[in-house]
Amino acid sequence: MNPAMPACVFCEIIAHRTPASWVEETPGAAAFLTIEPVADGHTLVVPRTHASTLEDVRTEERPQLWELVHRISERMRRVGLAEGVNLLVASGAAAEQGVFHLHVHVIPRHTGDSIAMNDWLDAKAHAASGSRQTELAERLRSP
Ligand SMILES: [Zn+2]
Repeated sequence: MNPAMPACVFCEIIAHRTPASWVEETPGAAAFLTIEPVADGHTLVVPRTHASTLEDVRTEERPQLWELVHRISERMRRVGLAEGVNLLVASGAAAEQGVFHLHVHVIPRHTGDSIAMNDWLDAKAHAASGSRQTELAERLRSP
């Protein structure tokens, strides 16, 4: 670690140098409760190896990251902490990423809670034109 750079808070948690409310660790991923939950049980799932953004996550840790996201989501339902979940990933400064160790928010949801994710989506959504959609899909299919 470069002494001029502040330590990554999530790497410090993964190394057990900073305490956290641990949920699970695997060889490639780790899950712990966020200290700023929007709902009880709000969990962060992170790759074990430092990766700033989604694109930086090591290929071999990607399946383990998403497997742990699935397992935490299923467990939230099973133990009664959630009726459903939202997943949220902010990757890159433009996406308002706060901590630059990629993390997946697993947010427990209950019918009638006040999170209202669809209200936000509906407020931002706009009708797409067919030709623009065709062009965008073509760009996204490029290797
Ligand atoms: Zn890190």
